[in-house]
Amino acid sequence: MERACSIAIIGGGPAGIMTAAFLDKNFDITIFEPKLLLGTLLPTGGGKCNITNAEPEFKTFAANYPRGEKFLYSVFSRFSALDAIEYFNKIGIKTLTLGNGRVFPEKMDSAFVRAKLLEQISHCNIEKAKVTDIARSVDGFKITAGKSEYYFDKVVVTIGGHGDFSILDNLGVKIIPPKPALTGLCTRTSYKNISGLVLKEVINKQTGLCGDLLFTHFGVSGPLVFKVSSLKARDDFPYTLSFDLTGGKLPDSAAFQRVLNSNPKKEIKTLLAAYLPKNFVQIFLNGCGMDGDIQCYKIDGKNRDLVLEELKNYKITVTKPRPDGETVMAGGVDLNSVHPKTLECKNISGLFFAGEVLDIDGFCGGFNLQNCWSGSFIVANTINTGK
Ligand SMILES: Cc1cc2nc3c(=O)[nH]c(=O)nc-3n(C[C@H](O)[C@H](O)[C@H](O)COP(=O)(O)OP(=O)(O)OC[C@H]3O[C@@H](n4cnc5c(N)ncnc54)[C@H](O)[C@@H]3O)c2cc1C
Repeated sequence: MERACSIAIIGGGPAGIMTAAFLDKNFDITIFEPKLLLGTLLPTGGGKCNITNAEPEFKTFAANYPRGEKFLYSVFSRFSALDAIEYFNKIGIKTLTLGNGRVFPEKMDSAFVRAKLLEQISHCNIEKAKVTDIARSVDGFKITAGKSEYYFDKVVVTIGGHGDFSILDNLGVKIIPPKPALTGLCTRTSYKNISGLVLKEVINKQTGLCGDLLFTHFGVSGPLVFKVSSLKARDDFPYTLSFDLTGGKLPDSAAFQRVLNSNPKKEIKTLLAAYLPKNFVQIFLNGCGMDGDIQCYKIDGKNRDLVLEELKNYKITVTKPRPDGETVMAGGVDLNSVHPKTLECKNISGLFFAGEVLDIDGFCGGFNLQNCWSGSFIVANTINTGK
């Protein structure tokens, strides 16, 4: 009898487990994972698992990936979010859609999703071991994990964005250095004493994005900052962000002058409280070198311009990402070395990649897990069909 094709999956996160689930059952499949299988799925969506996004148009869907957008066109055209939802329903995970198209399991429980997905891979061999090297052998691959060596016909690498990429050194796979993304940001100015304060609907000038800015004990955070951190993930630190704190509500200098002129006796701190939360006003005025008690008629033209400029271009210098605060890593296996139609390495036949190990990362909203589901399908389908 012919020996079954042997396949090693390196990493038992969402991409690895889903690859195993999509592969034909007659293969000899081994998953290498030193930690809890699908352990990384448990904290997703705050434990509720934002499993994908219901955005129907695949180009709009792909626009949610600062890295990988064009590469994903062909991936999503063959396995979309709708295909993923259909698959989840088929294996007993009913879904519901909440705001911004975010899709969750009806049970709102990532442990339930984990259990259902693990049911799909009960036929696979599990090696509770960390792979330390992957090398080519005569007719396949040699995997080293600790002191043990294993031989396989094909290898699927699904070690995520936090894995040790040096296991690919022997294969010469090009890696784009991973950088934290979707993260809070540490700032040069301390906002500790206003931690928890939110500025509503501000506009970030560098990206044009609008949203709420949350001050924290380490700097700034919240959905707007997460998105900005992704778009700037490859920038060197420190960098400066500027925000229109009025959210575009103060149109021009003349309008601002009119506001000051019609309230001559008012203190500037009282007047600014119409635009900013009260406990932020003095921090803001400190930045302008101005005393909050000064009455509007006493403020000269230069200082009026300064206040307006600061309102429209409030600068925050970012020193680093929040340590261990990232949701995903930007970087990983260079997309130029991978076929988008098969996710097979261009130079090494039989070597595949899926999930966050690739230089693909998305915004919040279910996009990062969808990258795993779609990539896993493509890899498994390529191996299943032999194409
Ligand atoms: C707190 C948090 C919440 C999130 N919430 C969401 C969400 O709601 N929706 C969403 O779409 N995305 C979310 N994400 C992102 C999402 O979890 C990841 O993009 C996704 O887990 C990536 O899956 P992966 O399988 O590619 O990699 P990983 O999940 O990182 O899994 C890789 C696995 O490989 C193993 N591994 C690494 N190196 C080796 C090795 N040498 N040998 C063997 N095994 C190895 C690791 O132990 C790990 O289990 C969230 C992330 C975080 C941190």
